[in-house]
Amino acid sequence: MITSLKWKGAMEKVLVSACLLGVNCRYDGGNKLNKELLNKLKGYEVIPICPETEGGLPTPREPATRQGEKVLTNFTKRDVTPFFKLGALKALEKAKAMGIKRAFLKSKSPSCGEEGLTAQKLIESGIKVEWF
Ligand code: SF4
Repeated sequence: MITSLKWKGAMEKVLVSACLLGVNCRYDGGNKLNKELLNKLKGYEVIPICPETEGGLPTPREPATRQGEKVLTNFTKRDVTPFFKLGALKALEKAKAMGIKRAFLKSKSPSCGEEGLTAQKLIESGIKVEWF
């Protein structure tokens, strides 16, 4: 896992979903490298996060969906909420420790997405989130 990505002259630190940076941490073992986002990140110090793997889930893993306050795997209906909550907590702790005020996250994910546990936690703490 990349721990940080620093462009020349970088100042502000931002959290970024690791899969958008090309890290193979998605449930299917792949990534969602986003070149438009990479361009936008010039001038920032990039701090990658992957709440699902940092919460203790393996890669690849069964996809999961948020259902109310819980997150259940799509096929075996296993309750994986504790992993998602731990990942969200770790992302928030990282943001607070580094004074981060902005995050660029992967859309449509039960962690990083618009309805995701991590995104929700970051927003509740006053961090501005944009999705890609
Ligand atoms: Fe990407 Fe976030 Fe899912 Fe990790 S938890 S694979 S960073 S969308």
